[in-house]
Order: sequence, then structure tokens, then C-alpha cells
Amino acid sequence: MKDQIKPARRQFLKMGSAAIAMIPVIALTGNAFAATNAGMRTSMKYQETPLGDKDCSNCLQFVPGKTPKDLGGCKLFPGDTEISPKGYCAAWVVLPK
Ligand code: SF4
Repeated sequence: MKDQIKPARRQFLKMGSAAIAMIPVIALTGNAFAATNAGMRTSMKYQETPLGDKDCSNCLQFVPGKTPKDLGGCKLFPGDTEISPKGYCAAWVVLPK
């Protein structure tokens, strides 16, 4: 019985250590789960800069971040949480006013 408990306790301690180790990362970045969708970015020719007056912040597909300047998401780029409001891609569609 005692041997059955030890592995679980050991695993719990490992997970706790990993969680504690992540605290500085979360504190520094403020976004522990940020991710990009490299495949979609490449296929849609995503760029971090606008094309003229066309950018993600005035695109129908953009999912804004907490503030207008924060990184957001895109309805066409699943899992990507680092879309710049000043970015642009080939799938840009004007946001109706
Ligand atoms: Fe930006 Fe392209 Fe997504 Fe529009 S479709 S929000 S331009 S990445």
C-alpha cells in the first residue's frame, strides 16, 4: 500500500515544481499561453506590418486583445493568439462600419 502512494506523491511534487518554475515566465510575459499558427501564417502570407490602410484592426476576421494595441487573434488562424492589430494577410476583409 505504501509503495502505491509514493509514485503519485512523487508525481504531484514534480508537477508542483514545474508549476512554481512557470511563475516567473507568466509574470514576465503576462501571456503564458501565447501561440502562433505558423502554417496559416505562411499560407496566408501574414506580415507584422499593414498594407496601406489595411491591417488586422480593421479586418472582419480580427479578434481584438484586451486593449486596441494588444495582440489578438484571428478567426481564420486557429490557436494563434499573437496577431498584431497592425498586421496584415492575404485574407483581409474590410470590417463593416
Ligand atoms: Fe489579420 Fe488576415 Fe486575420 Fe484579417 S484575416 S485579422 S488581416 S490575419
